[in-house]
Amino acid sequence: MYLKSLKAIGFKSFADKTTLNFEKGITAVVGPNGCGKSNISDAVRWVLGEQSAKQLRGSEMADVIFSGTEGPRGRKPTSMAEVSITIGDMDEENLKAAGVDLSFSEVTVTRRVFRDGGSEYFLNNVPCRLRDVQQLFMGTGIGRNSYSIMAQGQITQIIQSRPLERRQVFEEAAGITKFKQQKKEALRKLDYTE
Ligand code: ATP
Ligand code: MG
Repeated sequence: MYLKSLKAIGFKSFADKTTLNFEKGITAVVGPNGCGKSNISDAVRWVLGEQSAKQLRGSEMADVIFSGTEGPRGRKPTSMAEVSITIGDMDEENLKAAGVDLSFSEVTVTRRVFRDGGSEYFLNNVPCRLRDVQQLFMGTGIGRNSYSIMAQGQITQIIQSRPLERRQVFEEAAGITKFKQQKKEALRKLDYTE
C-alpha cells in the first residue's frame, strides 16, 4: 500500500487546485518557513477523517478552508475545501469491508467541507460515510488515529502515555484493531436483536 498522489483545492494555503505525485521511495518536502509543508500532512490527516480541528492546528473545522490573502495580489476566501488522496496496492479485504468495487486495486478518498459546516466523503468518487473511510484503513496503520503520521511532539506523547493508551498503538500495528471493532459491532447487533 502506498501513497500515490494528493490533490488539494481550497485547503489551507492551497487556494488553487494543487496536485502532488509521490514516487515510490522516500519523499522529502522542503521550503521556507510558512510555505505550506505541514499543510500537506494536515491534508492527509484531514482526508482520512480527522475530526479534531486542534490536530489540524486550527480552532474550528472551517479553518481548513482557504481564508484569503491580503495585499495587492490578495485573494478572496474560498467557500469550500477539498482534498483527495490516491492509495495504490490496497488490501482486498479492506476494500471489501468498505464496500469498494474490487476491480479497483487503488482507491481515491475525497473529503469536502463547506463553510456552512457540511462535510462529504467519497470513495472512488462515490459518496460514502466517514465510517467507510475508517473501515478502509483500519488495521493498516494509516487511519486517522494511527502511528503512520507522526506530528511534532507525538513521539513524546506515546512515550509518556498510560499503558492502556500505548497498547492501542501496538494493537493497531499488530492489525487487530479492526477485529476488535468488528466484534464490538457484532455485539451491538446481537444486543439489538435480543
Ligand atoms: P514551517 O517550516 O515553519 O514548519 P510550513 O512550511 O510547515 O512551515 P505550514 O504550517 O504548512 O508551513 O503553513 C502555514 C501557512 O499556511 C501560513 O502562511 C498560513 O497563513 C497558511 N494557512 C493556514 N491555514 C490557512 C487558511 N485556512 N487559508 C489560507 N492560508 C492558510
Ligand atoms: Mg511545518
